[in-house]
Amino acid sequence: MLSPSARFSALALLAIVAPATIVAVLGYVSIRQWEASSELLYREQARDMAAMAAEKVEMTLRRSEDAFLDRVQAALRSDASPQHAVDDVLAGSPLIRRLYLVGAKGELIYPRAWQDGDQAVFGPLLSESAVRRLARDGKREVIANNQVCLALLTGRSGEPVVAAFVRDPDTLRREILEATLGTLESSTIIAVLDHEGRTVYSRAPIGEAQRLLSVGFREGLPDWRLAVYQTPAGSPRQAVRRQVMLFTAALGVLVAVIVAGIVMTWRLMRRETEMARLKSDFVANVSHDLKTPLSVIRMFGETLEMGRVTDEGRRQEYYRVITREGERLSRLIDNVLDFSRIEGGRQTYDMAPTPVEPLIRSTLEAFAYPLAQQGFKVEVSVAPDLPDVTMDADAVGQALTNLIDNAIKYSADDRSLTVDARVADGRLVVAVSDRGLGIAPEEQAKIFEKFYRVGRSDTQGRRGSGVGLALVRHVAEAHGGDVVVESTPGAGSRFTVSLPLGGA
Ligand code: ADP
Repeated sequence: MLSPSARFSALALLAIVAPATIVAVLGYVSIRQWEASSELLYREQARDMAAMAAEKVEMTLRRSEDAFLDRVQAALRSDASPQHAVDDVLAGSPLIRRLYLVGAKGELIYPRAWQDGDQAVFGPLLSESAVRRLARDGKREVIANNQVCLALLTGRSGEPVVAAFVRDPDTLRREILEATLGTLESSTIIAVLDHEGRTVYSRAPIGEAQRLLSVGFREGLPDWRLAVYQTPAGSPRQAVRRQVMLFTAALGVLVAVIVAGIVMTWRLMRRETEMARLKSDFVANVSHDLKTPLSVIRMFGETLEMGRVTDEGRRQEYYRVITREGERLSRLIDNVLDFSRIEGGRQTYDMAPTPVEPLIRSTLEAFAYPLAQQGFKVEVSVAPDLPDVTMDADAVGQALTNLIDNAIKYSADDRSLTVDARVADGRLVVAVSDRGLGIAPEEQAKIFEKFYRVGRSDTQGRRGSGVGLALVRHVAEAHGGDVVVESTPGAGSRFTVSLPLGGA
């Protein structure tokens, strides 16, 4: 069978571990799902964005080239020898680096001659059959790795003229790619790769970024691709990781709060259990302490009543025992009653200036018989010119009684009791010392707690209720003073009560 606190610990553990595990598992599963769906969404969005960007590049490029071709076409129409007009058009079109105009039979219309071996590149493209095919399909074409573009125009009298031109890569990068892609709002990096996969343009340095996807351009830049790169910081995985960290931290805080709550409850419960044990000890101790003197009184009373004791000396002895036990009973009952008044907040103190020495002497007088009988060496030293001190004489007398009672009760072989009183630092200081059992240092703070008795078994044989010192402390504090103990196990103890001279 588990003890109540072990049962509580097991339950508490279950109460934390079970919900925390459920929350953690649910959180993990939902974050995983969220991660998967957000990644998918992210990819879809990136793909849409890339397709849109590619389309935009194509449109811009086409628009510029169309405008250029329109101007060339106009020059062709207006002039039989269009050299100058086309020169002007070329000068105003930085995107076009070089232009050749070729007639249907492959004859060069513009410029007057081929430049630097261009014929080797352009010649085959502008063969009669190529021109015929272009005329038939009526389209523009980009060939030779996006290098050469072909377009069909018409001459002055409607004959077909093929325009072959080469784009200027710098202008293409600056005025088409940069101008269209540089303004896009996105956390990703967009780059344009050429037919060999080399980066022609990128909106930001690619560095550590990972390629997410790429889409191809259509007819304007057929072999080139637009690629989307993902920076580590902008990836959805990073966002998920941040969420996981946040979630873990929140769960950690939650568990810490639950654990703290349970620890506090557990400590409270342990204190309550300890208090309940002390209280039941207290009841047993008080009952025993009440019974012992009562049975002694009854036994001696009955013996005397029966007239069996004829010897006067013994009779006197019996009377003394009855008186002494009666005094013990009153002390005990006073203690318990005062204690219950203090606990119930009903204790009141009657303060009046009181001479100290008579109070000490009368208190000691009550112990004259046990002190003499047990062979105590008693020393009282009261400073001669002690002033009257404002106090509740009964309460302080009772506190002294408890201290003297303890000094007798917890004595050992060296039976010695010293009471001294003096004024120090504007306070009345009364100390009760013995050379008895002493108190271990770790117990010294606890003995002033209610019901507390050192070691239970150690003090067995010396009965007590465990409220005596609690009462002393209460009385001292109610007078605005305090009580301290100095003690060495095996050498004795010294309890010092100090009270302000003028009362609280
Ligand atoms: P009790 O009724 O047990 O004497 P007290 O409150 O008076 O209760 O004292 C609490 C505990 O302090 C005692 O159980 C005892 O162990 C210890 N104690 C008190 N006075 C002395 C003393 N003079 N010498 C040794 N131990 C003492």
